Amino acid sequence: MLDDMFDSVMSLRDGPVWQSLPDEIRSEIRTQPCPEQGHDPKELYSRFTSHILPYAVGNRHPGFMGWVHGGGTLQGMLAEMLAAGLNANLGGRDQAPVELERTVLRWTAQMAGLPEDSSGVLVTGSSMANFIAILTATRAVSNGADIRRSGLNGRPLTGYAAVTAHGCISRGFDMAGLGTEALRLIPADENFRMDTQKLRAAIREDRAAGREPFMLTGSAGTVDTGSIDPLNELADIAKEENLWFHVDGAFGALARLSPDLAPMLAGIERADSLALDFHKWGQVPYDAGCIIIRDAIQHRATFAQNLAYLSRETRGLAAGSPWFCDFGPDLSRGFRALKVWMTLATFGTERLGQMVSGCCAVARHLADRIRQEPELELLAPVTLNIVCFRVRAPDALSDELNSELVRDIQESGVAAPSATTINGRRAIRCAIVNHRTTEADTDRFMDALLKRAGERSAR
Ligand SMILES: *Cc1c(COP(=O)(O)O)cnc(C)c1O
Repeated sequence: MLDDMFDSVMSLRDGPVWQSLPDEIRSEIRTQPCPEQGHDPKELYSRFTSHILPYAVGNRHPGFMGWVHGGGTLQGMLAEMLAAGLNANLGGRDQAPVELERTVLRWTAQMAGLPEDSSGVLVTGSSMANFIAILTATRAVSNGADIRRSGLNGRPLTGYAAVTAHGCISRGFDMAGLGTEALRLIPADENFRMDTQKLRAAIREDRAAGREPFMLTGSAGTVDTGSIDPLNELADIAKEENLWFHVDGAFGALARLSPDLAPMLAGIERADSLALDFHKWGQVPYDAGCIIIRDAIQHRATFAQNLAYLSRETRGLAAGSPWFCDFGPDLSRGFRALKVWMTLATFGTERLGQMVSGCCAVARHLADRIRQEPELELLAPVTLNIVCFRVRAPDALSDELNSELVRDIQESGVAAPSATTINGRRAIRCAIVNHRTTEADTDRFMDALLKRAGERSAR
């Protein structure tokens, strides 16, 4: 199995990025009965190679540029195997795996410029990390501890993020019981960065109406265009207004590892909390998200409970407090830390920074090509690694044509771009996140796209 998976990763370019699941296979997968008797493992493995392996999303493939997905590494795969072999549960107790997660969190805080004694926990992804930040921020308001016991009781807490913020921020407000309307979505400027004049006005208006502004979220790398909110200015406003300053750095936070990109993220180090993913630009196999929280006491005060069956001791297996179950909703937790540690330690932060910077260079190459082709139009500035553009067409046809082209290219197997909407216009979106993607891969994509666009307009 290991040999096959090494071969599969080494020969990605020989196959399509993605192919749709044939009807027979889909139906076979769906209708298989719950097994009463065990099957031969060899047969099951052959089912994996024939039914599953060829029909995944394709984010390992260098032609995958549709969404912000990492490409994974073989080192990460081996770490997953070791972690599964150990079958460690990292909810707590006195064990080396927990110590390794603490070290990974200390490294992460250091990489982001936050204090090394910041708190944190590894989670599924930034959706969960952002949710944990929102919960912690609500418990950090005055008498916030009461919220844990009696709920919000109609307390009019309001938070702020740009319209360009990821949907999981709004969902986090929903899940936290604040309601999505409690998140004020502030307009962005022409560079897709939060408009801070409008932010100040919204805060003023809420205070005048007797509401309680409590949290400001900035994005370090927005999902649609890769723009970066003016983090230093947001940190200043949060300080003046006594708001919790959270940064969603799901993929962008790791750009701090590249000396040429780091200045764009100035201010991230002033965050009260930071959400980021290792499974995106960190190339760690799914899933591996992370929340870092500056104030460890506040973080623990949001989740810790006092339960007899989880009582802590000063020696024996029940030592080693605080436990990770005190820092998030999960009690049972896998050993995500091993693959993150293995990845960071195998490559080192310098090389990871070069990889991130390399992805941005590929994105700039793609943008240059778009500027050169008269049939194409760039729809947003390329800040980091995301390129949004369209094939020019009369307004009445443009959206449909560009949506069709994205589907054509995905089905061709040559590349996997995605579609989004920029200023009301359907855009083709390329996010260069995979360490395997080269300039030649984007050229191949562009050639295929222009050819297809020509065929469609000839018709
Ligand atoms: C991907 C992403 C998220 C959500 O993270 P998941 O790991 O998919 O849960 C949040 N914010 C941004 C900016 C993202 O790119």
